[in-house]
Amino acid sequence: MKPKVAFFDFTSCEGCQLTVVDSLQTHLDLLNAVEIVQFREAISERGEDYAVAFVEGSITRAADEERLKQIRAQAAVLVALGACAHIGGVNAIKNLAPMDDVRKYVYSDKAEWYATYAARPLSAVVKVDAFIPGCPIDREEFIRVVKAVLLGKKPPIPDYPMCVECKLKENVCLFHKGGFCLGPVTRAGCGAICPTYGDGCEGCRGVIPNPNLNSMKGVLDEHGLTADQILARMTMFCAYDPGQLGK
Ligand code: SF4
Ligand code: SF4
Ligand code: SF4
Repeated sequence: MKPKVAFFDFTSCEGCQLTVVDSLQTHLDLLNAVEIVQFREAISERGEDYAVAFVEGSITRAADEERLKQIRAQAAVLVALGACAHIGGVNAIKNLAPMDDVRKYVYSDKAEWYATYAARPLSAVVKVDAFIPGCPIDREEFIRVVKAVLLGKKPPIPDYPMCVECKLKENVCLFHKGGFCLGPVTRAGCGAICPTYGDGCEGCRGVIPNPNLNSMKGVLDEHGLTADQILARMTMFCAYDPGQLGK
């Protein structure tokens, strides 16, 4: 019997689900190996009997929590899909301002109609068994994680910094060109795509476990930069937990 899989979304742009659709089109072997029972972006069925749940998006209101807990109760394995689900992502930028101000800014005189609260990743509400980082996710990494989950193995997500990939590509470090980059503390796995094309990493794959803060501070000192400047750059994707860098 094929494993039953379902996809769900909370607050997100749905770009990670689109990446899944795109990815599955070129991996028909995987598509044939599972039974997708719910995937709003791709099929109209809404089966509630599933073993693996892929969940995109952040939790941004009380009603989301109840729905996520129901998904968690049904799924044997729950996978956070993309930065919004994994680390709060861009949704958590609003957490940096008073929530009443945010609501008024977005909804104006209808602000009280919308019960939004500070955005949080799935792991702030339920146990998450695995995650696929990035904004959006990497399509090949998605396939690798699905295969690992189906085989009951630990998903092969790197836990070393982006600089390793960047140096393997023989890129000239952006710090040497007067730029700024979160590569020393960001999880590798995207092929250092932003630095490779001249943009500093913004940390969409999240901070690595046990980041080498002394090394990062050394890099900053060497280039006349401060920890506050790092925090300012981290607001794009890591605003939910800026304390990861020891501030
Ligand atoms: S992680 Fe990025 S691409 Fe994925 S749903 Fe969130 S905003 Fe969209
Ligand atoms: S450009 Fe960024 S990722 Fe590349 S080596 Fe420099 S700090 Fe590391
Ligand atoms: S280089 Fe950084 S910001 Fe760019 S895709 Fe990779 S993790 Fe995300």
